[in-house]
Amino acid sequence: MKLLLTEDDPQIGEGLVLGLGGAGFQVDWVQQGEQALVALRHTPYDLWVLDLGLPDMDGLEVLRQSQALPACPATLILSARHIATDRVMGLNLGADDYLVKPFDFDELLARLHALHRRSQGRRDPLIRVGDLCIDPIRRTVALAGQAIALSPREFDLLQALAEHPGAVRSAQWLESRLYRWGTEVASNAIQVHLHHLRRKLGEGWLHNVRGTGYKLEQAARPIPAADNPSDPAPVRP
Ligand code: CA
Repeated sequence: MKLLLTEDDPQIGEGLVLGLGGAGFQVDWVQQGEQALVALRHTPYDLWVLDLGLPDMDGLEVLRQSQALPACPATLILSARHIATDRVMGLNLGADDYLVKPFDFDELLARLHALHRRSQGRRDPLIRVGDLCIDPIRRTVALAGQAIALSPREFDLLQALAEHPGAVRSAQWLESRLYRWGTEVASNAIQVHLHHLRRKLGEGWLHNVRGTGYKLEQAARPIPAADNPSDPAPVRP
């Protein structure tokens, strides 16, 4: 999952990049409000963690301005401001959740997963596509009940595609989901991960849409000819 972190405190910022990174989030970290708005304009994020006390502008103002952008991710305010007025204002300005510092890291993680789930219109913590079952919290995958071992990148790729089965995603879009800013990415990295993923899932899951991108979908099982009334009867020579 791709997450934007706006936090000016270097210690908290570094801790969160490390902690959330370890939990499978790709974190882009900015320390100023203006930088957050630029990042939101250019990158599709799943989640945004926003501090309110920022050096260049108030976090609530950043949030207000972000609402005018074409796409704004699910937002959690993480702030030392604990009075109800700030929480109410933040939520009324479009934030989806509010957590007061100091915070418990596991609670932050659980809230982020819950937020993301809700933003995808899911109640089920598991992502299910046909026989495929993905657990974004434990980062495990099972196909028809059998566990499949994936590398972290393969898992991220599968999750990004499985969240919207049938939606065609370009290699560039997938790349932006899998890597943080400044990561050196080989030009064929996505194709390589897709190749490995296809091998592990078997045929009929990952589909290449010529000139556009890739999608995940369980191919319909072929109907045996005998059961298919639309099939013409075989002609005898
Ligand atoms: Ca701050």
